[in-house]
Amino acid sequence: MLRSFGLARNFSTSSRVLVNYGFVGLGQMGQHMARHIYEKLEPVDKLFVYDTVGAASDTFVRTNKDAFPDHAHQLFKVDQLTDLVSTVEEPLDYVVTMVPEGSHVSGVVSALVEAYKQVTPSKNFHPTVFLDSSTIDIQTSREIHEYVKQQVPEFDFIDTPVSGGVAGARKGTLSFMLSRGSMDDISPKLLTLLKKMGANIFPCGASHGTGLAAKLSNNYLLAVTNLAVADSFQLAKSFGLDLKAYAKLVSVSTGKCWAAVDNCPIPGAYPSEKQLPADIGYEGGFTTKLTRKDLVLATSCAEKNNRPLFLGDVGRFWYNKACESEKLANRDLGVFYEWLEDIDTKKSDEKVGVTEKATVKA
Ligand code: NAD
Repeated sequence: MLRSFGLARNFSTSSRVLVNYGFVGLGQMGQHMARHIYEKLEPVDKLFVYDTVGAASDTFVRTNKDAFPDHAHQLFKVDQLTDLVSTVEEPLDYVVTMVPEGSHVSGVVSALVEAYKQVTPSKNFHPTVFLDSSTIDIQTSREIHEYVKQQVPEFDFIDTPVSGGVAGARKGTLSFMLSRGSMDDISPKLLTLLKKMGANIFPCGASHGTGLAAKLSNNYLLAVTNLAVADSFQLAKSFGLDLKAYAKLVSVSTGKCWAAVDNCPIPGAYPSEKQLPADIGYEGGFTTKLTRKDLVLATSCAEKNNRPLFLGDVGRFWYNKACESEKLANRDLGVFYEWLEDIDTKKSDEKVGVTEKATVKA
């Protein structure tokens, strides 16, 4: 008969070399993050992957085994989420989640915790650490953390959101933000895992949720500076300036920021140096839809904190409006520059209306 995990925990304290990884969510970001773990597995490590879309797991396993056959015997896909508990001989040391929303994270973690509670503890039973790299709201993340700690105190759930986009995930250069007081508070094993997937690790504070707080604060800045950049380049255009020359000037002046320089919305501004989304019709890059998601999360968390934001309402208005159009929603956020030109010439009354709305609200 199965014993309750909660009543008879018997964690091994012996040091061991083997590390079992689980990865849940093999989408745009997750497939690359999981690939880096796979390629850098130590000879005794194992990686188990799961996605609700079975084809995503199948493709991941097939392409990575083909591309990197040396580790093929260490990579497994599971068909059901709870197989990560029931079919894996030793418990997973780490489970990384990279799924769209807080409700998905909560569903995955609670299903796994409930499954763990049903298994017979053995001397090999090691605690599991959940790492959530999805961008979700802080409150939901805190609730999941409390739930995990309540159900199995030896387990942990850490917010480890990332910055760097799909390109950073592909190259393995992501920045991780996590709720730890300092680098000394990050265990060597956890650091090893994070460094497999990313280049920069930022401990953001000891209490749970500080990683997400940093991520949302940064992405709020990105969302609003992107609006200001579109405004600034359209203003320069209305003055008759050469926009490529203006882009160069901004890159060494006080208006310098990621949206103006690294993601400059002027096609051909940096022809010899790099190809930007603006050069290919604003395809790829960081989509308007995802920017809106992060802006809404940031401003909603600010509201709950009674933290007024100068540009919260204005930003939400414009990103909501942009996302009414599939063409804008699914293209890089630099497309706001092009879109603003359209609004100026054809719908100037609408623009005035918004300015008034923002003024009244303020
Ligand atoms: P995506 O939609 O491409 O991938 C999500 C994957 O999760 C899909 O394959 C989906 O089938 C799977 N999934 C959904 N629910 C699941 C569940 N319950 N169990 C298992 N798998 C499930 O999304 P993405 O772009 O990879 O983003 C993932 C997360 O990372 C989001 O929270 C996003 O905001 C954040 N993020 C994205 C970027 C980016 O540039 N795309 C950058 C930083 C952070």
